[in-house]
Order: sequence, then C-alpha cells, then structure tokens
Amino acid sequence: MYDLTNRDVIYHLAQSHGFQFKKGFGQNFLTDPEVLIEICRAADQKEGGILEIGPGFGTLTAALAQSAKKVVAVEVDKRLFPVLHETLAGFQNIQIVEGDILKVDIPTLLSEEFGDMPVSVAANLPYYITTPILMKLLEGKLPIRRIVVMVQKEVAERMMASPGRKDYGALSIAVQYYASPRLVCTVPKEDFVPMPKVDSAVVALDLLDAPRVEVADEKRFFRLIKAVFAQRRKTLVNGLKNSGFAGDKTKEEIEEILALCGLDKNIRGETLSIETFAQIAKNL
Ligand code: SAH
Repeated sequence: MYDLTNRDVIYHLAQSHGFQFKKGFGQNFLTDPEVLIEICRAADQKEGGILEIGPGFGTLTAALAQSAKKVVAVEVDKRLFPVLHETLAGFQNIQIVEGDILKVDIPTLLSEEFGDMPVSVAANLPYYITTPILMKLLEGKLPIRRIVVMVQKEVAERMMASPGRKDYGALSIAVQYYASPRLVCTVPKEDFVPMPKVDSAVVALDLLDAPRVEVADEKRFFRLIKAVFAQRRKTLVNGLKNSGFAGDKTKEEIEEILALCGLDKNIRGETLSIETFAQIAKNL
C-alpha cells in the first residue's frame, strides 16, 4: 500500500502520471497522518458508509476505507482517475464516482450506493466552493448523520461562532440552524502539498433531527439574516429599514415590533441568537 502522506510518494505519483496540481480545483493534498486519524475518528462509521468529496490521490479515501464499511468518493477532475486506480487498487469497499458535487444528485447517489446504511460525509473541501457545498449538504434534508470537513481556518471559526463574536454571521447561523459544529483539529498550511496560502481546520457537524428553531418560512428567515449581516455595523433597526426587509414600515414601527420581542432599539443584529432571529422573522 502507498504511504500517501509521504511527500516523495506524492511527487513521484504526480510525475509518473504527468499530473499537475490545479489551483482552480483547490488541489492541496493532506500529508499529516495524525490529521487523517482525527478525521476518520470523527467520521466514525464502522457500521456504515462515507461519502467523500474530492479524493485527490486517495489519501483520505484509503484511510476512511479502513474504518468504514464502504466509501464512495466523488471527484470532478478526470485526470485523477488513473492515479486513484493505482493508489486504491486492492480496496474492495471503495467506489469512485465522476462528477461535480454541486451537480450530483446526492439523494439518488446515497440511496443507490448506501441503501439503509448510516452515512457520514468526509471531505478536504476545495475552498473556492466550501459554502455552496456545505449549504447543499445541510439544506438537502439528506439522510446524513455527520459531516466532517476540512475548511479554511477562518471559515471554521465563522461556522462555530456564537452571538456577539466578531466572526458570528450568516454562515454561523446557517450551519447552526441545521447542525451542531465542533472543532476536531487545526491544520497548518505546511501540512499540504502544494502548500496553500492559509491554515485550515477540521470541523465536525452533527446534523440535528430537526432545525434548531421552528421557522414558518425558511427562505424569509435566511433573507432576514442576510439583510441584517449585510449591514452589521448598523443597529438592527437601521439595518432592517435600509434593507427593505421590513417593507414600508417606519423606523418607529420596527422599534415597536423589536420591543415586543424584548429587544432594545439600539441593539445590533450581530448579538442576536438564532432563536431571536426566528422571533423577529415571525413578528416583522
Ligand atoms: N482529499 C484529498 C484531496 C483534497 S484537494 C486530500 O485530502 O489529500 C480537493 C479535491 O477536491 C481535489 O481532488 C479536487 O479535484 C476535488 N474537487 C474540486 N472541486 C470539486 C467538485 N466540484 N466536485 C468534486 N470534487 C472536487
């Protein structure tokens, strides 16, 4: 078996296959065996399946296949297929699927490949599309229990931030509406080949059985969040007024509605919990 965390092995494979790393696909391969162990432990699917996004040379894929019943890896870059064929030869429980994860019909893929097995997602995500991928997985109401993802460290902080923290925002709320996030480990940029510009972190998201708060109209709820955080320097009242979210209500009317929610007229949106945003969406 190949030691894919060994840089010489990676360079040798790249050379023998004439493979050149493509920045546009976010190709930065992990070389830290400890981090691989952490990701496998967090994904924890001994009795089930794992959907991997972006296997690269198969480093994480091979590690996951040793701790799960089945691994299905979706890869967009066809040039990687001959490499994966070589590095993952011998594994009976790995299926490589060609495709762009943003276009793949995930519910169909999950039911065809995993049937009734419990499923987790694991990925060292291409950073240029982290948010759309995460939102597709979270909003899809998929039969997934947990998502373990490597993301840019700042994005991990935003995902986990609580109200009032400087990195609290629309992403924190979107993630925490659907899941409970937890930091698995941080990963310095030196741990990747080629080295990216930023440090990374692995986050585990435990999907909730039902969203954290009850919201009558999810689209409207998220429009409210977006409107408020687009103007995070402003007070909530001004933010709501300027964004047009409150229709033609006057500032005074908005203040009255906020008072009904128990909120001071000088409050800023960035200090509000998900529950409070739900209450505002309901009353406004
Ligand atoms: N998991 C490997 C590689 C991570 S690099 C490792 O940890 O070493 C990111 C991987 O995602 C690359 O293999 C890249 O080709 C793939 N990728 C990029 N965009 C993708 C997309 N839209 N759908 C599926 N895979 C994608």
